[in-house]
Amino acid sequence: MRLVACRGCGASIMFVKKVDGRNHPMNPASVKLWIRVDDTDVEDDERSAVFQQVSGYQSHLETCPNAADFMQDRDPKKGGKS
Ligand SMILES: [Zn+2]
Repeated sequence: MRLVACRGCGASIMFVKKVDGRNHPMNPASVKLWIRVDDTDVEDDERSAVFQQVSGYQSHLETCPNAADFMQDRDPKKGGKS
């Protein structure tokens, strides 16, 4: 995977293709994530929740301090935390 410099913060990132065909910036270092593997509702029954640790990659948009600079093509009504 070819690494490029993020134009927002200069960090090394890689572009990956998502299932919808669009490219997405990702941090190249894998991280440990806990994913939920039971199918009960999170809010309704916390005590029966079952999680499994997996290795994965994190979207650079979640860690880039300047991510807002390249989120302009997204729908502002869905993107923010207003
Ligand atoms: Zn960045």
